[in-house]
Amino acid sequence: MNVFVLLAGCAVGVIATLVAVTVLASRRASQPLGGDDTSDLSSEQSLAASQARGDRLQAALDAMPYGVMVADQSGQVLLSNKAANSAGSDAHNEVLVQAAVQYNLRSALRGEARTQTVELYGPPKRVVVVEAHPLDPDGAMVTVEDVTERSRLDAVRTDFVANISHELKTPIGALAVLAETLIDETDPAVISRLADRTVNEAHRVAKIIDDLLELSRIELSGDLIVSSCDVGLLVVEAAARNSFAARQNKVAVDAGDIPVGLSINADHAQITSALGNLVDNAVKYSDANGVVNVTAYPDQQGVTFVVSDNGIGIPSHDLDRIFERFYRVDRARSRGTGGTGLGLSIVRHVANNHGGSITVESHEGEGSTFRLYIPERLVPQT
Ligand code: ADP
Repeated sequence: MNVFVLLAGCAVGVIATLVAVTVLASRRASQPLGGDDTSDLSSEQSLAASQARGDRLQAALDAMPYGVMVADQSGQVLLSNKAANSAGSDAHNEVLVQAAVQYNLRSALRGEARTQTVELYGPPKRVVVVEAHPLDPDGAMVTVEDVTERSRLDAVRTDFVANISHELKTPIGALAVLAETLIDETDPAVISRLADRTVNEAHRVAKIIDDLLELSRIELSGDLIVSSCDVGLLVVEAAARNSFAARQNKVAVDAGDIPVGLSINADHAQITSALGNLVDNAVKYSDANGVVNVTAYPDQQGVTFVVSDNGIGIPSHDLDRIFERFYRVDRARSRGTGGTGLGLSIVRHVANNHGGSITVESHEGEGSTFRLYIPERLVPQT
């Protein structure tokens, strides 16, 4: 069973119990006081206690993220909480939500539970689920839940799966074609060329899978493994990790002078991965004889890492999108350099996981500068 359905089911159960107790409490509170031999004082005390219980339960209902509404058999609303009264967020949406509430309420009053999803075309676009249940012995309750964020995540997941299939389809298709061609080929020169391309495509598949695993590890990892990291070492490591590719591209990678003893509390593996991706890009998108600088300096309560190059640069209209998964400015060039479109998504996640930020400044034909800010306020785990 879907975990959301389970949670929603539990929440509806809790709400139903609260509602039943609240209705009972308010009924008790409104009962006439006469016909009892006990003193006026104790009647007043029990009335006050009952009133306090009713107030507490109303406060509990108001604190719920769901809208809750209870109606008697005639459809008259006996009880509702704050969220139920502001479910639509504006007048137009309010009309749509209230229409769905009334429609589903009528059906619950006839004894039939109903659920309806209402899409509100904003902006911003919102999705609301209205659920109505008959109550025992009579009446009905309606819950109104804003599921905008959940449906957005569902859409992102679906897109992600579609993107992965699409990204893997191309190199796997190429591998099949190359292998089929190789079967009948007899010319050694052609065989050697096809074999080279086969190896390249196989590496490409492996790189996409590696980056996806890295991204999902960083995205899904719960707590960071925080330790005190020497900033100078992180910078030198990032530069060294890319030295082979840099030599091949004839690009120089310079590690800046970092103040001795500068350190941050951070997840070492994640920062290494983020810096590695930034330097890898700076090298990939530089022309021969380009220079890449990697440095860091104390900033506010943390450290800012800077990776700059004098390479091809990024068009201004692409700057907002380069941190999205699989987004590439120039697909052909990115493919040629072995890019997967996942590197900057990894960097963005590392920044978010640490409560930091990643920014970019770039001019086409002049180069790019990426700044990764990591705040130092994290406390090392013992
Ligand atoms: P890729 O694996 O394609 O490099 P990234 O997510 O790392 O994917 O980067 C996304 C896109 O941003 C790249 O395809 C490239 O077009 C652009 N880009 C990233 N870094 C640089 C850079 N230093 N110089 C120029 N373009 C860059």
